[in-house]
Amino acid sequence: MPVTLLGAAEIRTLAAALDVTPTKKLGQNFVVDANTVRKIVQAASVTADDRVVEIGPGLGSLTLAILETGAPVTAVEIDHRLAERLPATAAAHGVATGALTVVDADALHVHELPGDPNVLVANLPYNVSVPVLLHFLETFPGLERGVVMVQAEVGERLAAAPGSKVYGAPSAKAAWYGPWRLAGTVSRQVFWPVPNVDSVLVGFTRNPEPRGTEDERRRTFAVIDAAFQQRRKMLRQALSLVLGGSAASASEILERAGVAPTARGEQLTVDDFHRIAEVAAGR
Ligand code: SAM
Repeated sequence: MPVTLLGAAEIRTLAAALDVTPTKKLGQNFVVDANTVRKIVQAASVTADDRVVEIGPGLGSLTLAILETGAPVTAVEIDHRLAERLPATAAAHGVATGALTVVDADALHVHELPGDPNVLVANLPYNVSVPVLLHFLETFPGLERGVVMVQAEVGERLAAAPGSKVYGAPSAKAAWYGPWRLAGTVSRQVFWPVPNVDSVLVGFTRNPEPRGTEDERRRTFAVIDAAFQQRRKMLRQALSLVLGGSAASASEILERAGVAPTARGEQLTVDDFHRIAEVAAGR
């Protein structure tokens, strides 16, 4: 039996049957358009050989479009009513037993995932999109690539290069794991309820080799946080606390790392931040 997708009317009926009124707190804007969910799956190039993890499957619109490719899905949902209902929705839409595993949990606190996923596909809850992405990239090194839908502002920030106005701590941290790209825009009208922000798709491909060890990553992220906490200040000032306690010690470390002490964080690549952190750690 082929997998069929959810229609707009069915999504509302399902929500009513579950007594689910979409909440802002959980970022619940459900996609009610089959073309949009297919577009997300296509942008992620999912094939039957992949193993997908979805964060926030909700009522299952995107989940069914992923399952339609033949790839198995592990879906992590915080709302118990939605998590509980999803297997029955999948079965009613032609999904084979075993193709879907639902994890009833807060994605921010998940440390193990069944199904060894290699691809992340999600319409992320907008209030936690960056922390949840960084948590998954850090915790699941088996994730090779992914495409997620996020608020336009967040997607542009994730994909921003140094020098761009929107380049910030999330951009530099996301770049630690590999390159990011904008992969399309999505109309507000495909959601129920219609959100008051625009959405984009953003994709990533993990570097074939990790950029550094877990300790190096932690040290680098601490430097990134300090640099962007005072983004208008020159680095010798912004980093004085984390680089030896004074502007003079910070300048010396920055120079040894090949970075001008008068530069600002928004000009630095993740490699620059990594070098600064390693010089500071005496490596
Ligand atoms: N994937 C569905 C779709 O496209 O229609 C729903 C997307 S909706 C934007 C976000 C979903 O994430 C909701 O189902 C919400 O309950 C869930 N969610 C919110 N916070 C979460 C968290 N911390 N962990 C897991 N799921 C979460």
